Amino acid sequence: MADLSLITPIEYLKGVGPQKADVLKKELQIFTIGDLLQYYPFRYIDRTKFHKIRQLHPDLIGAQVLGRLIQLQEAGEKKAKRLVGIFKDDTGSMELVWFQSVQWLKKSLTVGSAYIIYGKPTEFNGQISITHPEIELYNNQEKKIGNMTMQPVYYSTEKLKKFNLDTKGIQRLQQTALEIVYKNIPETLPDYLLSKHGLIPYQKAILSIHFPQNVNELNAVIRRLKFEELFFIQLRLLRNKQLNTQKYKGHRFDKVGEKFNTFFNSRLPFPLTKAQKRVVREIRIDTNTGAQMNRLVQGDVGSGKTVVALMSMLLAVDNGYQACMMAPTEILATQHYNGLKELLGKNLCTIKLLTGSTTTKERRIIHQELEEGTLDILIGTHALIEDKVKFKNIGFVVIDEQHRFGVEQRAKLWRKNTIPPHMLVMTATPIPRTLAMTLYGDLDISIIDELPAGRKPIKTVHFFENQRLRVFGFMREEITKGRQVYIVYPLIKESEKMDLLNLEAGLESLQKEFPLPNYKISIVHGKMPVKDKDFEMQRFVKGETQIMVATTVIEVGVNVPNASVMVIENSERFGLSQLHQLRGRVGRGAEQSFCILMSGNKLSKEGRRRLETMVQTNDGFEIAEVDLELRGPGDISGTQQSGVLDMKIADLAKDQQILAEARNSVIEIFSQDPTLQAPENQILVNYLNQRSPAILWDKIS
Ligand code: ADP
Ligand code: MG
Repeated sequence: MADLSLITPIEYLKGVGPQKADVLKKELQIFTIGDLLQYYPFRYIDRTKFHKIRQLHPDLIGAQVLGRLIQLQEAGEKKAKRLVGIFKDDTGSMELVWFQSVQWLKKSLTVGSAYIIYGKPTEFNGQISITHPEIELYNNQEKKIGNMTMQPVYYSTEKLKKFNLDTKGIQRLQQTALEIVYKNIPETLPDYLLSKHGLIPYQKAILSIHFPQNVNELNAVIRRLKFEELFFIQLRLLRNKQLNTQKYKGHRFDKVGEKFNTFFNSRLPFPLTKAQKRVVREIRIDTNTGAQMNRLVQGDVGSGKTVVALMSMLLAVDNGYQACMMAPTEILATQHYNGLKELLGKNLCTIKLLTGSTTTKERRIIHQELEEGTLDILIGTHALIEDKVKFKNIGFVVIDEQHRFGVEQRAKLWRKNTIPPHMLVMTATPIPRTLAMTLYGDLDISIIDELPAGRKPIKTVHFFENQRLRVFGFMREEITKGRQVYIVYPLIKESEKMDLLNLEAGLESLQKEFPLPNYKISIVHGKMPVKDKDFEMQRFVKGETQIMVATTVIEVGVNVPNASVMVIENSERFGLSQLHQLRGRVGRGAEQSFCILMSGNKLSKEGRRRLETMVQTNDGFEIAEVDLELRGPGDISGTQQSGVLDMKIADLAKDQQILAEARNSVIEIFSQDPTLQAPENQILVNYLNQRSPAILWDKIS
């Protein structure tokens, strides 16, 4: 056979063939031998550890037992047909149950022989059993590849299993592949990095990740592969950032002009926080370098990101440019527009709103004013990125709640001027450091880590269903003081019907507890016509109703400083970041605000942790870290569409330290060799060229 290498198509591997190749491609995106070798086990069974039957209990994830098969019988009829074995050691006996491959197992297993079994114990009527255990003749041990003590387990699917590609089948392929290409596996990292970070060579790592000899070796291998994965992600991100500044000139805002100063000195109704000042300064410096700015502003709910955006836009206007700000929903865009217009006051600059519901006539006027340059600032929704919207000279773009926009939409705004405008993106809630470094690693990051002075931290308490009367009593007290109350119900697509019933039942009891004419209630949910929704919201905003019952539609956009109580029903069903966002709806005025988390008595471990976290802290950054830990990076809002997070081995929730190490080493490399010219860095250039990244900046140039 000709020389095979990592880039050889998978069908050329012995034992694969066209059909297996097809499922491997479809199910696991394995196209080449290299892809196969990078398909790592997701866990390992420690084959050195044995349990006695008496020690087995259903909380074990898996257990390995050495014993003797003393009986084997078929039981049940038709669909319930199964093979039941009795397995015994010197401490007791248990059942082994198989529903599949019954005939084959009957033929191949021998009653009376010693076996090693592995599987997850379950308990039924006090009897321990394992369903579909892995089973292997005891004296067959030495035949195992390399006498492994850590046995890899690969994720497989039903389809793969039909082609014998279960964990064992995949392992066999790995072995065949390694036997053939092992000597052709090249190193991916420069030697100096290996020695500096104590990393084992790639070739060795790839062999051992599939066939580890012991735990210590495995740990070293995993560290090496994690480092490499994170290192190359960072290398790509930071190289892109660097190319950006080299490739794109930026509009230079070299003066702080009249509008900025007038606003700052005589219109701004409050002193800026230190953090706000710092971020405004960072933006001023950035926009005066002659390079294009790409900056992410992270700040908690209520930390005052909007005014920072406004001042940046004024800076653009002062320097003869236009600016725009894009928000994900119409409610939010409208609220920004109204708020900013009021903050700006009269005669400072022109500002308009463009959304899906802007009339054709008004739209035409806006288009014209933008092209003529008489409109300074445009606020809007996705409507902003339409091709019809052309600016005379856009110099600054703000994207609020970045996570709701895809990369492509960001790119469209870039193209609105021959020299791309400066970009400021703002997140709705903080995201953890490791995520920010990965998702936005090509941006500069500013953090507003301080709330405006005088805000009282929101008091959060957790109540169970049976304490509801106390909650009603508390609501009544607050309403008597003139405050308003939100009550939020979960509404989740999968259980929408049940949720709506819940909402209705809740509403009914509320109407009894808080009867007309003393109390008035607004109701808002996603199924209502927009007109009715607006009407109900407005009644609450104007203070005509004291209670607002809602599904999560209020998560974004409502700003009622007089509302001081947020009651969240079935709070255990909300994610942490959602809870934090909801809580952020109160605490906007001068009064002490409260967040009441209602839940059933039965809480999952995770649910309890979420509620405890909410009670313990108001800090969005802290909450984001716990959220990441609980849910993993793929489930954090807004990360789904990002391919960067599809990692093979690294885990952003756990590998903070390796990530920091990898990122720092990339930064150091670029500081010493900005264009990667050094001979020892050619290995990196090759790697980057081979695996072309799908990254925005490259696509649009
Ligand atoms: P977010 O960061 O969540 O977008 P906003 O920009 O909407 O927060 O600000 C929340 C509220 O705080 C607004 O009503 C805003 O006017 C007010 N605000 C912003 N900065 C300050 C400040 N430095 N002092 C007092 N109030 C402020
Ligand atoms: Mg905001």
